[in-house]
Amino acid sequence: MTDRPHVMIVGGGVIGISAAYELARGGANVTLLERREVGAGASGGNAGTIAVGHPPLNRRGRIAQAIRQMTDSSSPLYVKPRLDPSLWRWLLGFARYCTDAHVQHCMSVMAPMGRHALEAFDRVLTEERIECAYTPGGYLEVCSTESGMDGVRHEAEIIQQHGYEPELIDGDEVRRREPALGPDRIGAVHHHESATLIPSLFLDRLAAAGERRGVQIRSGVEVVDLTQQSGRVTGAKLTTGETIEADTVVLATGPYSRRLTYPFGFRVPIQPGKGYHRDVDIGPNGAPALRIASVLAEHSVFCTPMDTVVRFAGTMEFSGENDVMRPQRLRQLTTAARKAFPEMGTARPKSEWCGLRPMSVDGLPIIGPVPGVEGLVIATGHGMLGLTLGPVTGEIVARQVLEGFDARAEELLPARFT
Ligand SMILES: Cc1cc2nc3c(=O)[nH]c(=O)nc-3n(C[C@H](O)[C@H](O)[C@H](O)COP(=O)(O)OP(=O)(O)OC[C@H]3O[C@@H](n4cnc5c(N)ncnc54)[C@H](O)[C@@H]3O)c2cc1C
Repeated sequence: MTDRPHVMIVGGGVIGISAAYELARGGANVTLLERREVGAGASGGNAGTIAVGHPPLNRRGRIAQAIRQMTDSSSPLYVKPRLDPSLWRWLLGFARYCTDAHVQHCMSVMAPMGRHALEAFDRVLTEERIECAYTPGGYLEVCSTESGMDGVRHEAEIIQQHGYEPELIDGDEVRRREPALGPDRIGAVHHHESATLIPSLFLDRLAAAGERRGVQIRSGVEVVDLTQQSGRVTGAKLTTGETIEADTVVLATGPYSRRLTYPFGFRVPIQPGKGYHRDVDIGPNGAPALRIASVLAEHSVFCTPMDTVVRFAGTMEFSGENDVMRPQRLRQLTTAARKAFPEMGTARPKSEWCGLRPMSVDGLPIIGPVPGVEGLVIATGHGMLGLTLGPVTGEIVARQVLEGFDARAEELLPARFT
């Protein structure tokens, strides 16, 4: 017999693995259930950027931009027109949050969270001696047009007001910092505080650190339902019919988080936002050996050096919960890259991938107890920043479960939607 609480985590992405690690570190008895394998969702294939202090996707003019691009499936932001009530409900809600006042609110929450995120990475990488090609020094957000420069300049001003130090540089300085970029790049913002890493390495090693601390990871196991008694969640039922009991269940199911909370009357306001990557080997006829990660601002393509490849990642497609890869969207990534890096060749990509981001309606993560249900905590909605916010979210969930409260999540609680 033990008086350690038994916590069950559903979902083995960066949020679930981070929560499992922190809960075990805090003394809980932790079981993690993942229906595929650790990192099988967006967490394993993302752009690998620890991007701190950024404004949300919800901005003035965003809906007009989405409507303009609705018929163009080759634009970076694409909403596939379809009759899906949950999509339209989400889009209407999203539109209501596209105001300057909301951007300021998000920044007042996310700017300090970004600093906590860096501290959390620092602690866990050092404490667990995790080698995952963590590279501080930031990334360049590079532009080839004046309108692109206006956009990144405006964003830099917002970030600066919240204590970060983005540096505006001209085209010559851009090429000095990243010689592979071509002469058409007219300037950039250098986001110094950010960092990059190889996400699958980070995740595998954090999972191993969790296991060393006693986390039991069960892969290939899908939760179909949560069990409950007198308004309290008591565990989960698996597709195999097996039931597992727990004192607390943490849902870290990313873009798939709506199903399991539905029976409790809580609609998680998220939509899956599909993104793609192409990994291209560095070398002749392949990708250039980049000195620093870059984002091609006009196309929202991240170019992150990861050991022997460069990962080209991006695009945001609202086409529902599926993993259909659209070739024209994959092509967009390398077409934009070839324009930016004149030396880049035409070698076939080493791998191609797509994954779904959990996009919350207000652009903020959703972390905390599910209203009206005892013993159920949710951690999702991290959108484009789930890797960045993984370890700090793990800390927050552990505190919420073990101590009942974490002040850093006051503005992130699910109760804000009730
Ligand atoms: C192209 C792209 C680039 C990105 N770049 C960055 C970046 O540079 N920096 C950054 O910070 N973020 C980035 N992101 C976002 C980031 O990847 C996500 O926010 C993050 O991975 C979400 O993590 P998660 O753990 O919530 O979800 P997921 O990674 O989706 O994990 C959820 C897991 O739950 C499992 N699951 C679901 N339902 C069940 C069930 N019923 N039973 C058992 N298991 C279940 C799934 O199989 C999945 O493995 C990017 C995303 C994409 C797509």
